[in-house]
Amino acid sequence: MTEANKYSVLFEPVRIGPVTARNRFYQVPHCNGMGHIRPRAEAAMRGIKAEGGWGVVCTQETEIHPTSDLSPFAENRLWDARDIPALRLMTEAVHEKGSLAAIELVHNGNHAQNLLSRAPVLAPSDMSLDSSYPKQARAMDKADIRDFRRWHRDAAIRSRDAGFDIVYVYAGHQMTLAQHFLLPHMNTRSDEYGGSLENRVRLTRELLEDTREAVGDTCAVAFRFAVDEMQGADGMQAAEEGRAIVEMLAELPDLWDVNVAGFENDAVTTRFQSEDGYQNDYISFVKSTTSKPVVGVGRLTSPDMMVSMIRNGVVDLIGAARPSIADPFLPNKIAEGRVDEIRECIGCNICVMADSAGVPIRCTQNPTMGEEWRRGWHPEKIAPKADENDALVIGAGPAGLECAMQLARRGYQVTLTEADDVVGGRVRRESTLPGLGAWNRVADYRLHDLQQRANVQLFTQSHLSADEVIELGIPNVFVATGSRWRNDGIGRNTQRTPPAIAAQANVMTPDDIMKGKAPAEGPVVIYDDDHAYIAGVLAEKLALDGHPVIFVTPESLVSTFTTLTLEQHRIQARLLELGVEIICNHKLSEVGSDRVWVSCGFTKNTREIVCNSVLLVTERKRETALYDALRDKGFNTLELIGDAAAPGLIADAVYAGHMAARNFERSEKEVEQDWFRREIISLSEGSLQ
Ligand code: ADP
Ligand code: SF4
Repeated sequence: MTEANKYSVLFEPVRIGPVTARNRFYQVPHCNGMGHIRPRAEAAMRGIKAEGGWGVVCTQETEIHPTSDLSPFAENRLWDARDIPALRLMTEAVHEKGSLAAIELVHNGNHAQNLLSRAPVLAPSDMSLDSSYPKQARAMDKADIRDFRRWHRDAAIRSRDAGFDIVYVYAGHQMTLAQHFLLPHMNTRSDEYGGSLENRVRLTRELLEDTREAVGDTCAVAFRFAVDEMQGADGMQAAEEGRAIVEMLAELPDLWDVNVAGFENDAVTTRFQSEDGYQNDYISFVKSTTSKPVVGVGRLTSPDMMVSMIRNGVVDLIGAARPSIADPFLPNKIAEGRVDEIRECIGCNICVMADSAGVPIRCTQNPTMGEEWRRGWHPEKIAPKADENDALVIGAGPAGLECAMQLARRGYQVTLTEADDVVGGRVRRESTLPGLGAWNRVADYRLHDLQQRANVQLFTQSHLSADEVIELGIPNVFVATGSRWRNDGIGRNTQRTPPAIAAQANVMTPDDIMKGKAPAEGPVVIYDDDHAYIAGVLAEKLALDGHPVIFVTPESLVSTFTTLTLEQHRIQARLLELGVEIICNHKLSEVGSDRVWVSCGFTKNTREIVCNSVLLVTERKRETALYDALRDKGFNTLELIGDAAAPGLIADAVYAGHMAARNFERSEKEVEQDWFRREIISLSEGSLQ
């Protein structure tokens, strides 16, 4: 069977109420930090998904009213008709490429703080907000419920007017009013909207009926429903009320979009859930309960798994958020028999991080994500080379690999050299740590691409000195030599002065551990002044290796940055389960030969911790020696990229490599002037209504 035939089932059209999807690839709603603030950027990004073959392309959650105001986050907004033009940009971009456009209408209930609108916060019952903002939500009375239904109906009509083909009712992720009414732990009402399941479902039923009545002749009505809260008996379970709700509403929507709640379970990282299709066990009952098409997700990147999910009757449509972010052209690559060219999501949640931070989406694997409109970057297209022919890239970490790959795509003759005997740099090193194996995909994808190209020469075990670089005579040089972890304790909390470290102290860095060096027998103190993932994952490794581990951090949580990737609670739980002692709010003061002294960030009181080794996770030093030695040696181009230029996330290194390749042979003036396009609020007459 040819590749195309093998996967042909994925390209069958699917009828969804009054509309038809051209294939089974369904980009489910996903946040992106663009929304109502950056509508052109969102439209272009969604348009690229349609171009890449996704038969249905959804918005992210779209607020229907000022009482559902997620400011300062950039969700979509459809409070009134003035929001229609911004959303129409998206439907036009998606329709132009032959796909259906779907809109996920939302009222966020007590998940919204209403910071911009200062409107009252609404919930089924009186309760706190689900954030630490000191304001409470009020129980909706009958008039509020009538209003909410009207807002939803009006938003559905505006959605149709904006050109959407599918309109959602959304009860999921612990973030929506419709779901809050379904959950007994949030809905303690005693009227006909509370109590029995029938009563708690009433509002959702009404919303589905209202939406159908409002737009159901032209638009399909989708229902996004979290069948399981993943809290065991403390929450809704797929086997019990989750199933009962699907049975009660089975034929009401035109499409079931089912998943698990909350967001951290739906979008779990590979570190904590390595298997693709991890939601199948929860959602597979839905299809046998309804005759309507079902879409499900679970970091689905393997076309074989997709086919088996269709054939085994798990779903009708292959849902994807992250796989469509990492590779917007995934469907087309399958259709064209280019499965080995799929850029697989690594499950790192850097995409989620950006949205959680309120800035436009980015992706570790796909550096063009979020840059479609503002920089005009296309994931599959890049300008051909201009006048130059040859380029040398030194260092094959994520920055060097991406830079070399894109330069090769542009048609340059590329030489890529790597000191190590394998490519990948930090990606290879970090992927050896517990749970991070999938991160290797960053290197594997690029290596595979480079190996297909005749215009690429790759040399491993090739540590280049400055003289050797000059001898090679290649006029354009990109230096991607990376960075190394510091061993002197300097970090965010030391004010550039290192703590005193005894000469006999057994001090280690993350690089030592990743190279295979083991700490001495006995307790290890890990001092984390980096606050991202690496100290936490090293603590896990050392604890698994049998070391007693004491984790010290100046922050009040372990690995604080990972709150943004939805992992922090899992990391801290795992360390505690492994017996790691956690000491928060303490800075490193001094390292002795058999102990360290740490001081409280508030009282400055010092305490002593006896240990045989200290692992310092503080800052990284840039590897710039080669670059410095090559300066002023007459190269046409000499550019320092990636961690060697500015240590950051793997996503930052890939992005830097991509940027360097795109900007190569553009004039400085052009690059400077065209930093990126911005969506600036127009203050022209008449625009302020
Ligand atoms: P980045 O994240 O910027 O890609 P990494 O640290 O992951 O940085 O990768 C840098 C790579 O550069 C490492 O694999 C390292 O072995 C390699 N490297 C460093 N110096 C040289 C050199 N002089 N010649 C060739 N390769 C080098
Ligand atoms: Fe996947 Fe990471 Fe890209 Fe998100 S940022 S789509 S998790 S590779």
